[in-house]
Amino acid sequence: MKKSLEDSAEKGYERLESRGVSRRDFLKLCSLSCVAFGLDLSVAPKMADAAAAKLMKKPVIWMQGQGCTGCSSSLLSSINPGPEKLLLELLSVRFHPTIMAAAGEQAVQSWEECVAEGNYLLVLEGSIPTRDPRFCTVEGQPFGELFKKAAANADLVIAAGSCACYGGIPRAGITGAVGAQDALKDTKVLNLPSCPVKPDRLISTILYYLGHNELPRLDNDGRPVAYYRYVLHDSCHRRLHYERGEFLSDWNDPKTSDWCLYNKGCKGKETFTNCSSYWWNDGVSYCGAVGSPCSGCSQPKFYEEFSPLFANPEEVK
Ligand code: SF4
Ligand code: SF4
Repeated sequence: MKKSLEDSAEKGYERLESRGVSRRDFLKLCSLSCVAFGLDLSVAPKMADAAAAKLMKKPVIWMQGQGCTGCSSSLLSSINPGPEKLLLELLSVRFHPTIMAAAGEQAVQSWEECVAEGNYLLVLEGSIPTRDPRFCTVEGQPFGELFKKAAANADLVIAAGSCACYGGIPRAGITGAVGAQDALKDTKVLNLPSCPVKPDRLISTILYYLGHNELPRLDNDGRPVAYYRYVLHDSCHRRLHYERGEFLSDWNDPKTSDWCLYNKGCKGKETFTNCSSYWWNDGVSYCGAVGSPCSGCSQPKFYEEFSPLFANPEEVK
């Protein structure tokens, strides 16, 4: 058994190397996943072996409901070590409406075959309409029905991005949009909310799942505690200004550009996320660092209970 795991892991590493991901880079990625989930770093090599062994085999179905394709776009724009490479080239992505070469009947056939085989990861991007199935269809079939059918045979359902988790921006509209957990009710869903999905959270959580055969600890809203334990306000680099009562009022005043954004609509005091401690795109930046107030995109009540986005939260209430 041990030998066959080692053989599979070796094959996984070879394939990773052939796609430009070295064993060292992969181990680094697994180590980051361990750090994120609070595991001892000594676990990382075993986790890397287990994940590498499965990485080459695990089929993925990626379905897009009511959304803007921003989550796929976020994943494709990510940089080193390239979660897009791991997800899109190294997992066996059998269906993805935006990037797959097949179209029409061929694409649907690939989806049907994969669903019939079972044991895949199902990723949902976008929300599901409940008011009228005609709001979102695939090949003339209601999207919600197809999604439920795919979820029934999946090993794990991952809701990627705010719309897929809780309905997001479409929920504020007329379609009665809901996220995966409300559509499925009895199926456990792993929620990774933010608008768009944060690529490193997605890949680290998949690696954790493949390496441990179980989900990380989730909070009451189905989010991994490791990423959503604290509010943004706790580690915001503008916090000192908040404590001093220094609030930005004029976007064009360079002297106050790093002051607290509360009066400009920042929802960081009630938004559980690690955006300010682990910046986006390999640590390049995040909303607060570029002067944009947090809009609360990782919260279940985003968007309608946090809008208008650029108004003082007290005034919104
Ligand atoms: S900018 Fe937002 S998160 Fe940062 S200190 Fe001000 S209120 Fe808190
Ligand atoms: S800082 Fe706030 S708005 Fe920006 S991505 Fe994080 S949770 Fe969303």
